[in-house]
Amino acid sequence: MPEEQKKTEIRRYYQTLYSAWGEQHWWPGETQFEVIVGAYLTQNTAWTNVERAIENLRAAKALSVEGIRSLTLARLEKLIRPSGYFRQKAKRLKTFVAHLDKKYAGSLERMFSQPTNELREELLALNGVGPETADSILLYAGNQPVFVVDAYTRRVLDRHGIISAKTDYEEIRCLFESALAPLADEQRVTNSRTRPERDRCSSAHPPSAMSTAQRTALVQIYNEMHGLIVGVGKHYCGKSQPKCDGCPLQPFLPKR
Ligand code: SF4
Repeated sequence: MPEEQKKTEIRRYYQTLYSAWGEQHWWPGETQFEVIVGAYLTQNTAWTNVERAIENLRAAKALSVEGIRSLTLARLEKLIRPSGYFRQKAKRLKTFVAHLDKKYAGSLERMFSQPTNELREELLALNGVGPETADSILLYAGNQPVFVVDAYTRRVLDRHGIISAKTDYEEIRCLFESALAPLADEQRVTNSRTRPERDRCSSAHPPSAMSTAQRTALVQIYNEMHGLIVGVGKHYCGKSQPKCDGCPLQPFLPKR
């Protein structure tokens, strides 16, 4: 499929899904740091397990830079155990906080004031941070204009003939970012609180401090598109058997 046609398709997917389901309120969380913790903990596990681990940290008053810094590794492992791979994830969270302390004196504000591309490279150099985690931190904690590609994104695009199984992460990220950018020029939406509520699909989260934070129209569109694709993946586009009947993207499915 020619590149411009791919971009047009992606814009239509956004418009169709947003019209059907409205705001998804990703990422649930009260603070930037909670989003970062969630981005680490969600690796290789279901979100419900992440929620249990986050609640443990909250109850222990450790859901902050200071909180993670002062916990022993053993205690941190115990608190985040419900998220799976807890030893690995505890080390990674400690590594993140150590980096934040060393380079930014523990300040997320200072960290997020770096140019997006530089900060992205820096995050990718940390232990256990791949592109999806780095981009989740940049987009959902930092409100920076980076699209997050996940397994659902790959699956939907592959089944619709827009990418192949071999297409790499960066190519898909650039495709989405360039496809969606013109929509931001049209909308000029700067704050999700100003927009009307619509029916949400059941994978949408309730509004939270982070999901309703001030952000640019472009960041808002990248934010929503990722959440909408998660909804498609969870409810229709399963790993083994897609349920195309009833899926809002069915009209775009290539004819066989
Ligand atoms: S469920 Fe079917 S129509 Fe929906 S995104 Fe997947 S392949 Fe496309």
